Amino acid sequence: MNNIEFDKQHIWHPYTSATNPLPCYDVIGASGTKLTLASGETIVDGMASWWSTIHGYNHPTLNDAAHRQIDKFSHVMFGGLTHSPAVNLCKQLLNIVPNGLHRVFLADSGSVSVEVAIKMAIQYWACQGRPEKSKLVTPRNGYHGDTFAAMSVCDPVNGMHSLFKKSLIEHFFAPAPQTKFGKSWSPDDIAPMRDIFEQHAHEIAALILEPIVQGAGGMRIYHPEYLKACRQLCDEFDVLLICDEIATGFGRTGKLFACDHAQITPDIMCLGKALTGGYMTLAATLCTEQVALGVCEGEPGVFMHGPTFMGNPLACAVASASIDLLLESPWQTQVNTIETHLNEALTPLAEHDKVADVRVLGSIGVVEMKTQVNVAEIQKVFIKHGAWIRPFSKNIYIMPPYISSAADLDVLCNAIKHGVDSC
Ligand SMILES: *Cc1c(COP(=O)(O)O)cnc(C)c1O
Repeated sequence: MNNIEFDKQHIWHPYTSATNPLPCYDVIGASGTKLTLASGETIVDGMASWWSTIHGYNHPTLNDAAHRQIDKFSHVMFGGLTHSPAVNLCKQLLNIVPNGLHRVFLADSGSVSVEVAIKMAIQYWACQGRPEKSKLVTPRNGYHGDTFAAMSVCDPVNGMHSLFKKSLIEHFFAPAPQTKFGKSWSPDDIAPMRDIFEQHAHEIAALILEPIVQGAGGMRIYHPEYLKACRQLCDEFDVLLICDEIATGFGRTGKLFACDHAQITPDIMCLGKALTGGYMTLAATLCTEQVALGVCEGEPGVFMHGPTFMGNPLACAVASASIDLLLESPWQTQVNTIETHLNEALTPLAEHDKVADVRVLGSIGVVEMKTQVNVAEIQKVFIKHGAWIRPFSKNIYIMPPYISSAADLDVLCNAIKHGVDSC
């Protein structure tokens, strides 16, 4: 039985049916911006393996960091032990995140970092003698991960909340922000969120959102004033602000963190995806000193969370090397160059009959179709034109590695054009 056949019969893939799975492509190599398939093709990667591979695949510096750490030790428990890879990484993170974040919780995946953020917020208010502040509020069209607490703040429709009604806690949903990035700000946009705060702030622990770019819940790019207004509401009504930068962090939107577009500091921030440059899973939940001290006031006096692989030294060493690599690279120029290229190549598609909207920010390009895309069919077209792109719902989108060349971007944009024509 070849790989594809065994896979089809026995292995789950993300968001895929067991009875009628989408086709899978067998990868035998990955280097720089390219993936090599068992079938012989080499294709340009448009997805950066879901936002993570910012420096490209098989990077000598990251390989070297992994080799050096694995020859020392791959893992030790973090309960009662610490090590240079974790200390170095947390020093670097605290140097680059928005001012005011002082404590780092190293988690093992993005979803877990969101669970940790939510737990921190609820425990914070409980320890302040306000246990009734235990709900969350979030804009619609959000995505925060697939575990239960994270799922409870994903868009209720995309997140299939009706299916899990009895197992999910119900939170407050505000309409998604409407003012697009780069358009003139309409203060009405924040009014529905303000209404929820006015009526319910006494039972709300935190507002959770993805700053500037709503990723897997709709690929929507919104105005920084919305984020600023959310920060102000949280201050005014004693609600914590959780910014989920798992997709947007580490330069993707043109700023090191999307919060920087609005010059705000959240009370709690989640990082993941590009943290290790796409090498392995690692995430982090950062918080202010006020939150950290508040969580540990009174009973139980500790924060009750501790993944087995917390602070994994191998992942920390690679993450640390990835951040050095990013900061030493001309990432801002690279991301701006990608933005210009995507704007020029994709914007004309907005005139296409079947296209609803085209939007670009930093190294993210989105072509929203008027109807759902047939993923299996359109991927054949993409591969034929040398590109790896995985659309979801109505959105064909790319967020390639920052090292992508003009030729790589031409391949991706040309494939998208052919894909759109084939719909
Ligand atoms: C991917 C993502 C997550 C979940 O991260 P995992 O590592 O897949 O658990 C959470 N929030 C956002 C914004 C994401 O893009």
